[in-house]
Amino acid sequence: MPDSAALPIPATLDETLQLMRTRLSHVIPDFEIQAKAEIAHKINLLKREMNAVILGHNYMEPALYHSVPDYTGDSLQLSVVASKTQADVIVFCGVWFMGETAKILNPVKTVLVPSEKAGCSLAEGITAEDVIALRKRFPGAIVVSYVNTYASVKAESDYCCTSGNADKVVKHLIAEGKKRIVFLPDEYLARNTAKDVGVRYFAATDSDEDYAALPADEAVVIGWKARCEVHELFTVEDVENIRKQYPDAVILAHPECSPEVIAKVDISGSTKLMVDYVRDVDAPRYALLTECSMGDNLAAEFPHREMIRSCTLRCKHMNTITLEDTLEGLRKLQYRVELSDDIITRARTPIDRMISIR
Ligand code: SF4
Repeated sequence: MPDSAALPIPATLDETLQLMRTRLSHVIPDFEIQAKAEIAHKINLLKREMNAVILGHNYMEPALYHSVPDYTGDSLQLSVVASKTQADVIVFCGVWFMGETAKILNPVKTVLVPSEKAGCSLAEGITAEDVIALRKRFPGAIVVSYVNTYASVKAESDYCCTSGNADKVVKHLIAEGKKRIVFLPDEYLARNTAKDVGVRYFAATDSDEDYAALPADEAVVIGWKARCEVHELFTVEDVENIRKQYPDAVILAHPECSPEVIAKVDISGSTKLMVDYVRDVDAPRYALLTECSMGDNLAAEFPHREMIRSCTLRCKHMNTITLEDTLEGLRKLQYRVELSDDIITRARTPIDRMISIR
């Protein structure tokens, strides 16, 4: 049986086509909707038969996002769903580390990610060995890992966080009296979080002498050097160009963008914050500095909102997940996320700590 509160899933091909036309006809052409609806219908039939649940990240392409997921959202929202689902199979339409998080939170389930190639430059930017080395270099520091890390890195961490709760996690640690917080792996999220929380930032690539000179009684966020290969490419010039052409647009940026870009935009926040903002706050126009599909999905969901499209920057990892792969994944039960019991046990603790201070 599907979980309660899931999105409604159409039962017939006609209903699927109707639903997709209603949501997508102003975003993608009808011939494509018809072709995709046939695949979506097959997925929905198979999903019921297999007692599977499909989780669709906000960055999924519109035809997928608006047809087969039982739940949509950011990685934190979907992780919470994964932890509670009654389904036997969890299909995570997102990147590999998200599938790993679902497996950690609900290890008895079969967890599938439809593409083997769905990596992430942040998750690949740090290893468990790097974390062990950082602990040696900064003894006594608390290690906070962004959820965009692989399970082996989470297993070496004290806390996890998402872009939606990084501030809260860091504030919580400071309130507990912690003075050194190693924040991994995204340099820009670490810098932006330190600025928001009002604490000093120290780059792990800086010298031991510089570190030794930091005041012992002052809280410091110590950042690593990985970056999101999509968000790091947005520039201050991009923001200025949007403002020049659309002076009344509200510009929202993901905090994986550089601090210089964040300083120029109107709102910085997670994909969930962007969804909530576009839904709830009236503005003449909205421009999102994040993966392009997110703007498409919001344009489809809120047709009365004017979204400014900016699609030169795409996430090649998220874009490997298609309806075709999702169908194939269900048929062949691929690609399974497998983790050792030891990693699951150790990686669970920092995730649980994060969820407890949401
Ligand atoms: S958008 Fe950036 S952080 Fe997200 S999956 Fe792609 S590379 Fe990773």
